[in-house]
Amino acid sequence: MTTARVTALAGPARLHLSENPYGASPLALAAAREAIDLTEVYPDPARLSPVAAIAAHLGVAEDQVAVANGSDELVLLTALALGDLTRPGVTTAGTFPGYRICLETARRGCTEIPLTGPEGTDVDTDRFAEALGTAGIGYLCHPHNPTGALLEPGRFDRLAAAAGRTGTPLVVDEAYAEFAPAGSPRVLDHLASGAPLLSLRTFSKAYGLAALRIGYAVGRADLIAGLREAQGTMPFSVNRAAQAGAVAALADQGTLARTVALTAERRAWFRAELAARGRRSLPSATNFVAVAVPDSAAAERLLAERHDILVRDAGRFGLPGFLRVSLGPTEQLERFLDALDALAPIDALDALDEPTPVR
Ligand code: PMP
Repeated sequence: MTTARVTALAGPARLHLSENPYGASPLALAAAREAIDLTEVYPDPARLSPVAAIAAHLGVAEDQVAVANGSDELVLLTALALGDLTRPGVTTAGTFPGYRICLETARRGCTEIPLTGPEGTDVDTDRFAEALGTAGIGYLCHPHNPTGALLEPGRFDRLAAAAGRTGTPLVVDEAYAEFAPAGSPRVLDHLASGAPLLSLRTFSKAYGLAALRIGYAVGRADLIAGLREAQGTMPFSVNRAAQAGAVAALADQGTLARTVALTAERRAWFRAELAARGRRSLPSATNFVAVAVPDSAAAERLLAERHDILVRDAGRFGLPGFLRVSLGPTEQLERFLDALDALAPIDALDALDEPTPVR
């Protein structure tokens, strides 16, 4: 498990997809490889083995877990199947675009609650809670992508309570939850309330299995039953290697803990380096950091074109002025820091504008 795994890939530095530079558990890889031998046999459509392993790991019943082809598939299935389908869904502005895209695909429509706070980067939980009263379903990204922020526990509690009060299902995308400090607010701690809550989790990030495509939902049993029914449209969407790899990854909590610890260390180092260079970044509970830049669209383009470095312009998510940078290998982050300084000297805020052609 070394950073050489990602650096060994040919091509540009991949700091744009929040990938895990440490790779998956060797036990997970071995299990996935062994499972691939049986290619002529369909995978288990009930996904019984990962469902049982996840339920045991989280201490919930098996009918509270649905396993799918990454959390992307779960975002689509929730939009297709859950809540009052005649009402639009609600999410925040400046977030992972999958919620809006899937709600539109499901022909439900989507209302976005603008971000708030001094920097326009905070989730407006009061307005969100109110909007749940008339919405068909809600989507909250927590920890938030692309800011990396966690909600204060009281705010999270009030949103969960609003779902309970209104009966509107609240889907909390917890794709980065494993990176958050222990004790951070999470859906699991609210399931006993009986509120219509679902957490979406993935093996793509902290577990390093992005290429296998496997994630899960955990939540109230009737919502899980709705998801499983919708999965009848794609009964074999979770392949055999993914199912076996996820079960083995879950059993190797040592590798997960190491990944989480190394990520936290690298995050602290990266933010300190940014600060030393006069750059502002947002506190993050994830494996990426939002870095403030004068023109994030130009920065994304020029870093790719001139420096072979891929990062994500958060403007694509409705939060311009920030680059979302994955906590990839240290050497790639050092290259990013130097490249950004070359593109946008900190004392020249318009430095990313293309030079005016000389006539
Ligand atoms: N939700 C969020 C917030 C994400 O950032 C991502 C991946 N970038 C996903 C869902 C999709 O993850 P998966 O690989 O499990 O489909």
